[in-house]
Amino acid sequence: MSSRWENALPEINRLKVWLPIRSLAYLNVYLIKENNSSWLIDSGMLSSKSILSLARELRRAGKSLCKIDNIVLTHFHVDHSTMTVLFSETSNPKVFIGKIDLEIAKGKVDEFIDAALSLFLEHGMPKEEAKMIREGHPAIRLLEAYKDLDNVEMVPLDDGDVINIAGTNFKVIWTPGHTPGHIVLWNEESKIMFVGDTVLLEITPHVTIHYWSTDPLGDYMKSLRKIIELRPKIVYPGHRDIIKDPVKRAKELIEHHENRLHEVIEILRRFGPQTGYEIAKKIKWRVRYRGWDEYPYPERFFAMGEALAHLRKLEVEGLIEQRQRGDFKVWAIRRT
Ligand SMILES: [Zn+2]
Repeated sequence: MSSRWENALPEINRLKVWLPIRSLAYLNVYLIKENNSSWLIDSGMLSSKSILSLARELRRAGKSLCKIDNIVLTHFHVDHSTMTVLFSETSNPKVFIGKIDLEIAKGKVDEFIDAALSLFLEHGMPKEEAKMIREGHPAIRLLEAYKDLDNVEMVPLDDGDVINIAGTNFKVIWTPGHTPGHIVLWNEESKIMFVGDTVLLEITPHVTIHYWSTDPLGDYMKSLRKIIELRPKIVYPGHRDIIKDPVKRAKELIEHHENRLHEVIEILRRFGPQTGYEIAKKIKWRVRYRGWDEYPYPERFFAMGEALAHLRKLEVEGLIEQRQRGDFKVWAIRRT
């Protein structure tokens, strides 16, 4: 799919790049061609399935893996960033990424995952389960690619930086939440935005607990409000379809998390103090599995991380507190 915009906006080619991650299906890579150079927004995942579909999609759009001059990465996640390693071999593009995610992409991805897993253990997850989650995590399986990414020179982007893509200025806007250093690209004149995984249709972007922020979910909800205030007309997301009513979708995502926060409070009211692990198992996730034991390990990483992100937000709001119970931390409604 491609579209040409009024005010001489460049043509945006959406490339559907298949992923070996069933729940996501594919990544949208956006190709923008200039007379003498070409840009990609996000690059894909370094896997055979993705390489083949990316090469085909590029050829369909009149380009090849060997002719990419610039890549902007919206965030460090494995499905968006690791294909950059291949491009650095085939066409040596200039690569841009938000400065906090640059720090993580360059040698700290395993630290990021391991820090989350050690929190999961503190919050009641059995050791064996945490070990299986680590082994099954796509970022851990592609650690070698991240090591290669370490050798790729990347330009750090700051909030407010402006990148000129094919004659059009895009402002870099910091939207932490889905990752600590997630960025979006905003063209004020035409009100279009490349949003990475900040706003998605059908699925809710994952928000996990981490050490880079005291309140990742709070950050995420603020990022959504920032996008709503800009009133974009159309946004180009990392997954699923292009969003024609992004303000409505961003509001739905805020509402989704507000409802989840209420659900967590209700669980604590009903069952009393609980570990994060016990709460993660009680939350009604929108999944087709009948019970926790049916969850594939990567899904358990998402559920546990997301439960803790909600608990942390409620703690920051002063509604709940952590207490020690034996080896584990439990969460409880705050004593007033
Ligand atoms: Zn992502």
